[in-house]
Amino acid sequence: MKILVVNAGSSSIKFQLIDTKFDKLMAKGTLYRIGEKLGPENNVTFKANGKIFEDRKEIVGFNEGVKIIIDLLTNKNIGVLKRISEIEAIGHRIVQGAETFKKSTLITPKVIQQIEDLTPLAPLHQPGHIAGIKGFLSNLPNVPMVAVFDTVFHTTMPAYASRYAIPEIAYKKWKIRRYGAHGTSHKYISEQLEKLVGYKGKFIICHIGNGASISAVNKGRCLDTSMGFTPLEGLVMGTRSGDIEPTIITRVMEMTNKSAQEVISWLNKECGLLGVSGVSNDIRDVQKAAQDGNKNAKLAIDMFNYRIKKYIGAYAAALGGVDAIAFTAGTGENRPEVREQALRGLEFMGISIDNAKNENFERGVVQDITGKNSKAKIFIIPTDEEGMIAKETAEIVSKIQK
Ligand code: AMP
Repeated sequence: MKILVVNAGSSSIKFQLIDTKFDKLMAKGTLYRIGEKLGPENNVTFKANGKIFEDRKEIVGFNEGVKIIIDLLTNKNIGVLKRISEIEAIGHRIVQGAETFKKSTLITPKVIQQIEDLTPLAPLHQPGHIAGIKGFLSNLPNVPMVAVFDTVFHTTMPAYASRYAIPEIAYKKWKIRRYGAHGTSHKYISEQLEKLVGYKGKFIICHIGNGASISAVNKGRCLDTSMGFTPLEGLVMGTRSGDIEPTIITRVMEMTNKSAQEVISWLNKECGLLGVSGVSNDIRDVQKAAQDGNKNAKLAIDMFNYRIKKYIGAYAAALGGVDAIAFTAGTGENRPEVREQALRGLEFMGISIDNAKNENFERGVVQDITGKNSKAKIFIIPTDEEGMIAKETAEIVSKIQK
């Protein structure tokens, strides 16, 4: 099935055309500055058939954005699709499904309304998703669309892991609980681990990218995850602080005259690796600065790796042991020193890494980097969120077509 996977943000659309029958990426692209003023740079990128096309175009809204995508996909000179009707379904990545959605769902007018109703829980993401869905709906009204939620995989968490220790009204009325994120990636990696070890075991999945989260998975079900009510909680990230004591917020408000919302934005956008190092949110830059003697950069890296280790220890305890650990996403897949430092000293728990295999890893492929006497298997597994969205979309659409 040819599935268009769409990730619509507040002013952007990222898309991939995937043929699920052959597991083949046919084309991918990004549109930026939708509904915004044009900048000096190209804001349309499209990759297909080994070529890259770039353009600088005013895009007044999502409707127009979708028209551009359709034109690119059917452009005769590029040669991806003969007709747009070859697209059999569209899968939309949706950040917040809360407790409304426990699985991926065919998009209907009711589902659009339900996604919109969750806007207070993800104000930065949900409006872009809705605009994207509506843009495709008005241009391709007959193509079935599926919503795949970042939170669904985490809906299996027991209440003792998902709830915060605050009165029930906060959960019942204010909808405050741990929702987690990166669920599509965690689910994909969990399924890959099952294939690799041959059974549904006790897994710890480290999705370490610019945003980062860890999950504890027991027999295919998420037991706990580090992101919380929003993606701010948990690990040290590129620009997010991760775990923080809440009264720090009022202290910063008092010291800076910032509003609560401004402090939350600061914790999301100006902290983490960037805030501590003062160098960059990209771990490659921070690591380089640390090697060149920048003490704050060294501290940022140490905090980053230590936090991962702390969660691995906590989740091993929560699971009552660990059969396999996986590293995925930009940093997890590409930075051997992060994997090594996060696992260093865990031999007492039966966890050890093969340093040579870890350092001489091959990019973009699954790799076993388990140490000689390790009881737990350690893997690098490239994530494939888009492939997973395409797969789930194809499954749902084939069911309704039967
Ligand atoms: P992601 O959010 O999964 O796209 O991960 C992006 C982050 O991965 C970047 O901000 C980098 O800090 C980190 N990273 C580390 N090494 C690499 C690499 N070789 N290629 C891409 N990203 C990398």
